[in-house]
Amino acid sequence: MSDQLRIRRDIASMSAYTPTTSLEVFAERLGRGADTLIKLDANENPFGPSPRVHEALAELVHAHIYPDPESGRLRTLLADYCGAPAEQILCGAGADELIELIMQLFIEPGDCIINSPPTFAMYSFNAPLYHARAIDVPRRNDFSLDVESIERAVKQHKPKLVFLCSPNNPSGNLISSAQFDRLLALPTTLVLDEAYIEFAEADSLASQVGTRENLIVLRTLSKWAGLAGLRLGYGIFPPALMPHLWKIKQPYNVNVAADVAGQASLLDIDLLQARVAELVQQRKRLETALAELPFLCPYPSQANFLLCRVQGMPASQLRDQLAQAGIIVRYYDKLSLHDHIRISAGTAPQMDRLLAALANCAPH
Ligand SMILES: *Cc1c(COP(=O)(O)O)cnc(C)c1O
Repeated sequence: MSDQLRIRRDIASMSAYTPTTSLEVFAERLGRGADTLIKLDANENPFGPSPRVHEALAELVHAHIYPDPESGRLRTLLADYCGAPAEQILCGAGADELIELIMQLFIEPGDCIINSPPTFAMYSFNAPLYHARAIDVPRRNDFSLDVESIERAVKQHKPKLVFLCSPNNPSGNLISSAQFDRLLALPTTLVLDEAYIEFAEADSLASQVGTRENLIVLRTLSKWAGLAGLRLGYGIFPPALMPHLWKIKQPYNVNVAADVAGQASLLDIDLLQARVAELVQQRKRLETALAELPFLCPYPSQANFLLCRVQGMPASQLRDQLAQAGIIVRYYDKLSLHDHIRISAGTAPQMDRLLAALANCAPH
């Protein structure tokens, strides 16, 4: 870098991030139309948004006016939906933005966070950008949290934040309430990511924020409400944090399209919940079917996806064979998760095609 372009040295020496591949790029690479592909790699909702969202977007007349910086009407509807007061809710351009906002609020140079891989990559991805050290406390072999080791790490490193995900992405398992009780007693702030809670047979901790002083809960409309492309998430925060979050939030972080789409979704909850129930049904069907294949070992999941260990052949080979059949799944080759794939639950016809393609896949 020249003397005139003096970017941060830690970023200059950072290795590049592998971006996710878009549907269009996959289609081009495989030489087929995007509408013939089944995208099961990012836990998106195959049913798309509620029809009311399409209506609301078609009627959007204020695209030339800045959005409401407080997302007031949306937050009122979210309060009803999640059972926490609107005063404790802050919206963001996806839950991803709120992860960054939390780091901005808490982290000073030299601070650290705790991360329990394998888990959602954004916690450890963002940490160095905000000058935080990410301390990994790996999950156990069955992907349950290693609470004893987290307790020890909190004592030793005094992290500002502990990032937790329940149901966990990519393993799909929950954190138990006994584990939460122990974690909430620690002298640190817990950031609980509930991106998949709508798919789980478990209660959200959203309504406990506030009585539990050190708990932040993150939620999103990307998965259950099918709004991933519009970017809309929210956090439920302890009252003491709210004034400070309002000070640092970008004023127009939630755009007008996301704002009205969120409101329209929350006025059509019955339909969206029926779709969630259908995706849970398909996940259960898939779990049974995959367990019967000699080369796949699915882990129990409470989310809209299944993590599978691949045996008898490289997971990359299975990924490639499925891609040839027009089906895209997520492949893991990291040290913490080697030779695994993650498959999102789709519609019944999509799952029919997946199972037919898997029947043709065999180690060779
Ligand atoms: C998908 C996902 C998110 C991202 O949510 P956005 O609102 O789309 O930013 C957050 N956390 C986890 C665990 C996810 O899998």
